[in-house]
Amino acid sequence: SLSDRLGTVFDRLRGRGALSEQDVRDAMREVRVALLEADVALPVVRRFIDAVTEKAIGQDVLRSVTPGQQVVKIVDDELVDMLGGTEVEGLTLDAKPPVVIMMVGLQGSGKTTTTAKLGKLLKEKHGKKALMASLDVNRPAAQEQLAVLGEQISVATLPIVQGQQPVDIARRAMDAAKLQAADILLLDTAGRLHVDEALMAEMKAVASVSTPTEVLLVVDSLTGQDAVNVAQSFSGEVPLTGVVLTRMDGDARGGAALSMRYVTGKPIKFAGTGEKLDAIEAFDPKRVAGRILGMGDVVSLVEKAAATINEEDAEAMARKMAKGQFDLDDLRMQLKQMQNMGGLGALAGMMPGMKKAKAALASSDMDDKVLIHMDAIIGSMTAKERANPALLNAKRKKRVAAGSGTQVQEVNKVLKMHQEMARAMKQIKKMGGLKGLGALFG
Ligand code: GDP
Ligand code: MG
Repeated sequence: SLSDRLGTVFDRLRGRGALSEQDVRDAMREVRVALLEADVALPVVRRFIDAVTEKAIGQDVLRSVTPGQQVVKIVDDELVDMLGGTEVEGLTLDAKPPVVIMMVGLQGSGKTTTTAKLGKLLKEKHGKKALMASLDVNRPAAQEQLAVLGEQISVATLPIVQGQQPVDIARRAMDAAKLQAADILLLDTAGRLHVDEALMAEMKAVASVSTPTEVLLVVDSLTGQDAVNVAQSFSGEVPLTGVVLTRMDGDARGGAALSMRYVTGKPIKFAGTGEKLDAIEAFDPKRVAGRILGMGDVVSLVEKAAATINEEDAEAMARKMAKGQFDLDDLRMQLKQMQNMGGLGALAGMMPGMKKAKAALASSDMDDKVLIHMDAIIGSMTAKERANPALLNAKRKKRVAAGSGTQVQEVNKVLKMHQEMARAMKQIKKMGGLKGLGALFG
């Protein structure tokens, strides 16, 4: 993946005491290939490489004590910049109600799901009263799909009237929103398999009767270069205000995101991270850049943990993380939370320095049963062993395996995982501890 490849390049840079101009150019050549293979658009790659190269060899970076670190920092800064800078851009909601948010994009990009996710978010986090309306008359049952989602999240949807055209539905939705004194009207529009004139004409007509405050282009981040082309076509035709990147939970994250800002000139406002209706995050360039550079997504891990775990536990964990301490009791607590946090794969993906652990997980058919085993293994250790895993010699491991009804091999796996995570925690500490993380929260 992109972050694996960049990780390799940067590990090499970081590991060196001195760097020459040629070293930087060589590294940038590899970065260039990695970006192109990750489907980042060519002009974006060029601009990026030029900017980084210029900064890295133009200043006193190469003569500094830690040139490798500095180059990585330049790359990170530049990535953040490319993804939209340090600001997290939210929705404009302070217009005259009903504030209309229109979703556009190709079929299957995630418009309907995102509409419902935003409905839920606006209701729960912003206390807004929303009305959702589907204008998709092309796909059978598209309107019903939104109605079902609306029911799940208790957000009103416009009653379905068969045979109406999108523009008429939009008008009716405006009236209904006013009548119901809704704060927000979410318009879920139809998509096509490809961008065509009819689709663009429909989007324009709907926009002209509903005068949306936000027009969000929903793109599937897994479609790479296609997503870029789609973004280009739409942004030439309808006045976009932002982009939502869906399926950022997939493996190809990065490439499309990197091009989107440049191609549309509009901020990426949200990232969809799963099929569930709470799987949406404000798009944070810093966070995504970190993820691409293989530093893991520490911030969202902490945030997610804080939302799932009760506050006291989260604080205790955060304190330990800040100190760079992490023992088997902590691991056990985390294992218990994992089921609530989207399972092991999701979690490993967010952890810094967890690449190896993640690969290990992937190859060891880790599932929730394994989580229960791991819990039993840690439970069979003494308090001393949990606080100081180094105590676990072969004899003790055997005892623990017997006590938990597992094999020594599995005990080793738990210890390995703990090591990886402890290392990750240390990394957090290096990054400025929780204060540093706090700053990232913005
Ligand atoms: P639409 O045709 O643009 O309205 O797309 P839908 O909202 O119907 O979504 C198509 C499929 O993508 C559905 O199965 C969704 O559950 C799924 N989906 C949407 N957003 C995400 C996301 O962020 N992550 C994942 N994994 N799936 C998503
Ligand atoms: Mg739809």
